[in-house]
Amino acid sequence: MHLGIRSERTHLEGRVAATPQSVASFIDMGGSVSVESGAGTLAGITDAQFGEAGATIVNSLSDAGTIDVLLKVGRLSEADKHLLARGSAVLGMLDPGNDDDAIAELTRQGVTCIAMERVPRSTLAQSMDALSSQATAAGYAAVLMGSTTLPKFLPMLVTAAGTVPPARVLVLGVGVAGLQAIATAKRLGAVVTAYDIRPETKEQVESLGAKFIDAPTQQMDEGGYARAVDEETAAEQRQLLADAVAASDLLITTAQVPGRRAPLLVESSVVHLMAPGSVVIDMAAGSGGNVEGSMPDEVVDVNGVRIFGPTDLASRVAADASRMYARNLLEMVNRMVVDGSLQIDTEDPVIGPAIVGVPETEEGVST
Ligand code: NAD
Repeated sequence: MHLGIRSERTHLEGRVAATPQSVASFIDMGGSVSVESGAGTLAGITDAQFGEAGATIVNSLSDAGTIDVLLKVGRLSEADKHLLARGSAVLGMLDPGNDDDAIAELTRQGVTCIAMERVPRSTLAQSMDALSSQATAAGYAAVLMGSTTLPKFLPMLVTAAGTVPPARVLVLGVGVAGLQAIATAKRLGAVVTAYDIRPETKEQVESLGAKFIDAPTQQMDEGGYARAVDEETAAEQRQLLADAVAASDLLITTAQVPGRRAPLLVESSVVHLMAPGSVVIDMAAGSGGNVEGSMPDEVVDVNGVRIFGPTDLASRVAADASRMYARNLLEMVNRMVVDGSLQIDTEDPVIGPAIVGVPETEEGVST
């Protein structure tokens, strides 16, 4: 089993799909690993470290011979289509639903495509849950980004030059990213308020020492995700949130509904109520935005309120985000290897749901 690790570095991507530790584990499983030169640089991993772990460093995976399993951070590239042959597999955050043509093309080539976004959010699959590991990194990074942009301290300071009040941080959407944002803002000493449509999040918010806003809630779907709310509820929600938004120094929004545009929680008229200098980090900007006017990877200034729509938050802590993601991938591959060779069980409760493209002619893949 020959595994390939791409260098996917761009100005918005610093993560890598393996670490020296995961490389060593693949070799212990009986595999061999080729890593593209520079793949780990922005995650703090040198070629030499990958080499010491047992990987072969190559300029391009196309020089590395047949790749059986390609491990990726992001979507499929043109080069991946030329690299992978029938019987191989690719694992990555392949963005199913938005990049289906590329996935279908590779599947037609006989490649099994496994999207890490589709790993179920179950207890069994926890160690392979890349959405959670990357949302943890992103939620943390969102608070740091906001705190360094805000012209204020986050904690209360009592100094000889006077008492400085703590900053008020509001987190809308309390999934994995939101919970990490609350915890991070609390550690930095801010006064934190939060809200989510799912009623069970109230207790989670309060257990972190933050205050829950009393606005409408509704039960989640059977998968544990939020459902879209009807327009009447959404309007009531926006009304009740308006005061809290206006009073916040730093607003972090994370609300998502799988397979749908992100819900609009804050209208432009409410952004206008925020004090100049306030900062908004709209973590849902890449899927339509929770805040009216936010733009992916842009800064929009509304009367001195800066709205950021970063899509690269996990990559801003590339070393630890990669460490967690590489572990997710290692656990996935571990689950698919039997006696040193890859056996993809399409009925497996973790692997099965993550397969977004399985070649028609084969029931499984073994190399
Ligand atoms: P997500 O990224 O899909 O959404 C973020 C948050 O936005 C969610 O908490 C959601 O309820 C909220 N939201 C959606 N619409 C909203 C609205 N109109 N107003 C306010 N908030 C809104 O969420 P996620 O972090 O991926 O988590 C999804 C679910 O999966 C959660 O129930 C989480 O507890 C669960 N989960 C379970 C496991 C596990 O059991 N292993 C692991 C991770 C997540």
